[in-house]
Amino acid sequence: MPRHVILILEDNDERISAFSVVVAGMVPECQLRLWRDAPSFMAEARAWLPQASLISLDHDLNPQPGASQDPGTGLEVATWLAQQTPVCPVIVHSSNHERVESMVNELRFGGWTWERVGPWGSDWIAGAWRRKAGALLEAGRNARVSPLAATRPVDHAQRMARARISLDGLSVGDAFGESFFCPEEVFRDRTVHRHEAPPPWFVTDDTVMAVSVIEALGRDGFIERLSLARALAARYMLDPRRGYGATAHGILRQIHDDVPWMDAAGSAFDGMGSLGNGAAMRVAPLGAYFADDPDRTVREAVASAEVTHAHPEGKAGAVAVALAAAWTASNRGNDLPAHLLMEAAYSLTPDGETRRGLAAALRIPLETPPAQAARVLGNGSRISAPDTVPVCLWLAARHLQDYREALWATVAVAGDLDTNCAIVGGIVALSVGAEGIPADWLAAREAIPFPESLP
Ligand SMILES: [Mg+2]
Repeated sequence: MPRHVILILEDNDERISAFSVVVAGMVPECQLRLWRDAPSFMAEARAWLPQASLISLDHDLNPQPGASQDPGTGLEVATWLAQQTPVCPVIVHSSNHERVESMVNELRFGGWTWERVGPWGSDWIAGAWRRKAGALLEAGRNARVSPLAATRPVDHAQRMARARISLDGLSVGDAFGESFFCPEEVFRDRTVHRHEAPPPWFVTDDTVMAVSVIEALGRDGFIERLSLARALAARYMLDPRRGYGATAHGILRQIHDDVPWMDAAGSAFDGMGSLGNGAAMRVAPLGAYFADDPDRTVREAVASAEVTHAHPEGKAGAVAVALAAAWTASNRGNDLPAHLLMEAAYSLTPDGETRRGLAAALRIPLETPPAQAARVLGNGSRISAPDTVPVCLWLAARHLQDYREALWATVAVAGDLDTNCAIVGGIVALSVGAEGIPADWLAAREAIPFPESLP
C-alpha cells in the first residue's frame, strides 16, 4: 500500500509555500506535514512516521515571532531520527556544510537512506528538490529498506510482539507500584484492603528506559550500545523528573553532553560504577526478545546494562532479570514448576552478591509469606541489584500465573515499589500473555511514549 505523507522541517515562510506548491503538484493525494522547529517535530512526527514516504530537513532554524522556545536544529532531528526505525528516505536541504555532514552521519548510522539537496538559486525547491524527491518516491519500496534490517532475525516480528507484552507488564507494574508512594498509614490500609489509587497512574524512569531498550531491539535486532546510551540520555533530557536515581541524573547528563558512555558510567561512585537496580528494571523485554537463546540473552543484557551500570552487580542484576524473562517466555504454557525461573537465572548469572541472593531465594519455599522472604532477600529499599533482583524473581515465580496477585504481593513487601513491580510485571506478563494483564490497570496507566513506528 503506498504511503503518502511527506514530513518537512523548515522555518522560512517563502520556502514553506514553495514546498506546499511543489508537493501538491507532484503527488496530488499526498499529505504534507510541516514543522518550523525541532522540538515540535520530535514531539509530533513520531505519529506520522509509519505513513511517511519522504522526510526533508533544514538545519538552521530561526525563532518564530512570539515563540519562547529555542527552535533547535535539524541536526537534533537527525539524531532523533537515528533512534527511530528507518521508514523512508531523508533529504537534507541545508546550506550549512559542516552540520549537513553531521546530519548525514547520524542518519547513516541510524540505518536511514539519505540524499542532499543544496538550496542554491531561487528556484531550487521546484527544481533540484522536486527532481530528487520525485526519484525517491518513485524508487518507493526499495529506497525504504534499511541495510540494518539484514541484522534482524527472520522472526523479528514475533520477538518484538513478546517484548511489547513484557513492556506492557513492566510499565503497568511501574505505574501501579509508583501509585503506592503515600503516607505509611494510607499505604498499610491500601495494601491490606487492596484499594487501588484513582487513575491515572504515572510511569517512572523504569518504563522510560525500557522504551529505549525495546526501541533499540526494534531497530537493530541487537543492543548497539552507543545508540542505546544516547537514547537513554535523550529521553532523560526530555523529561528528567521521572524518579531517576541521583547517580542516573549525573551519568545521563554526561552522556547527553557527549562524554563517552564508558567514561560516564565508569566514573560513578569513584570509579566503581553503579550497582543500582536501574539496569535490571528496564531489561525484561530484552529477555523476551532473546527468549530462545540464554547465552545471547546474557550478552545482550550486559550490553544493555553497561552503558549506565559499570559495576559487576549492576550488570548481574540485569542478566538475572533478562534470563528469568527469557525462561518465562520460552516455557509459556509448559506447566513447569515456577521455581525453575530462578534456576534459569541462577545458572548463567555471573557469580557475586546478586547470584548468592538468587541461591538464597531458591531455598525459600514459594508458600512462604512474601514479607518473610523479603526479610532474607531484601526489598529494594537500598536500590541495589542484590537487594532488589532476588526478591523480585522469587515473587514472580510465586505468582507466575496471576499478574494481579503478583503485583499485590510485590507492593506488600514495600521497598522500591515502582521498580520491584516493573521487574515482576515485565516477567509475569510473559507467562499470562497480553490478555492476562488486567485491562482496567492498563487503562489506569498513563499513555506511554511508545515508539509506534516499530515493526
Ligand atoms: Mg522508577
